[in-house]
Amino acid sequence: LEIEPVDLWRLLRASGVKYVKFLIVDINGVPRSETVPIDMAKDLFIDGMPFDASSIPLYSTVNRSDFVAYVDPRAVYIEHWQDGKVADVFTVISDISDKPSSLDPRRVLNDTLEQVRSKGYDFLMGVEVEFFVVKEDNGKPTLADTGVYFDGWNVTVQSQFMKELINAIAEAGINYTKIHHEVAPSQYEINIGAYDPLRLADQVIYFKIMAKDIAQKYGLKATFMPKPFWGVNGSGAHTHISVWKDGKNLFQSNTGKITEECGYAISAILGSARALSSFVAPLVNSYKRLVPHYEAPTRIVWGYANRSAMVRIPQYKMKINRFEYRHPDPSMNPYLAFAAMVKAVMKGLEERREPPPPTDDIAYELTNAPETPATLEATLNELSKSFLATELPSELVNAYMRVKQNEWEDYLTNVGPWEKTWNVITQ
Ligand code: MG
Ligand code: MG
Ligand code: MG
Repeated sequence: LEIEPVDLWRLLRASGVKYVKFLIVDINGVPRSETVPIDMAKDLFIDGMPFDASSIPLYSTVNRSDFVAYVDPRAVYIEHWQDGKVADVFTVISDISDKPSSLDPRRVLNDTLEQVRSKGYDFLMGVEVEFFVVKEDNGKPTLADTGVYFDGWNVTVQSQFMKELINAIAEAGINYTKIHHEVAPSQYEINIGAYDPLRLADQVIYFKIMAKDIAQKYGLKATFMPKPFWGVNGSGAHTHISVWKDGKNLFQSNTGKITEECGYAISAILGSARALSSFVAPLVNSYKRLVPHYEAPTRIVWGYANRSAMVRIPQYKMKINRFEYRHPDPSMNPYLAFAAMVKAVMKGLEERREPPPPTDDIAYELTNAPETPATLEATLNELSKSFLATELPSELVNAYMRVKQNEWEDYLTNVGPWEKTWNVITQ
């Protein structure tokens, strides 16, 4: 459904919306926003909303700081969980001369999908978003419940906060299929999709906004940090991918075995995994999740029904329609991560390389299999050598590498609690 931005503005005003929140997603996948009373917003829907691009990482420098955010009329959500008077609109970014910004993650994904469509392909993707709900104890995040996998007692956070969150998701028009208490205490999971990847990325961001906002009402905090607590499962964002051509799912199979095309896609995903990691596991902390024994992948292998492998093939009575990439975590910038995954899968479909054989061993024990990068620094080195560094806009890759490299160096020189605990005592 295409609608002119100004018609969208009229529609929103007529339906009782009082404020418009313009959303800009930064290179880290963090939403930024400006709120404008609806009566003042008409021109901004037509001409775009100006903002200071130098105050959002890497968009621009202080001497060239005027950028414009244009409403994407396909991406509007109403804050029903509040009073329904605020409309949140995702935007696409251009510089002052109206040159599209290649640092805008939404634009990068949109352009990637357009290229793919021009070749006759469509992607359908879903994400299992895992997250923790924590409370603050003397300024320290602590567990908010002692629930277990699929917890059935109504004594978890689920009983109040979760009910409200589920309701909010449904009212936002987000298609979610399941929600449950996850393996770690205070950990939850929601499955969103399947959708076109741009829409899915918007919904992942919007879900995070809702979860954080509603948690706050209960004095809780929703966190998408990949490994907030040592010794229990971290949070993943397993991504499910299918590719369609002429209305047909290329990964559809009724034999209990993957299709040829699915194999080519898996082969390319595994082949690029060490570089993809920069986008799907983007934090220093992401690599503390990717360790043995917590259902997160450490070896670059695939298998059927194997939750220790990096790629798993979900099956339902011999029917297969997608593969599941278990490497991503919910701190990923979903636009950049999906763009990178789409590029990798397309490369696979073009190169048509057979994947290695599937494994049904416990992947943590496969000491000869290739490993996930051990640190953020390791994956950034891989990215610089990867086809992704040339396939994605170079301005974006350079900016991303810079921001991530800085993060790594900060971490290396910072004095953290682990050192304080051990070395102050022992030295
Ligand atoms: Mg799941
Ligand atoms: Mg899960
Ligand atoms: Mg999963």
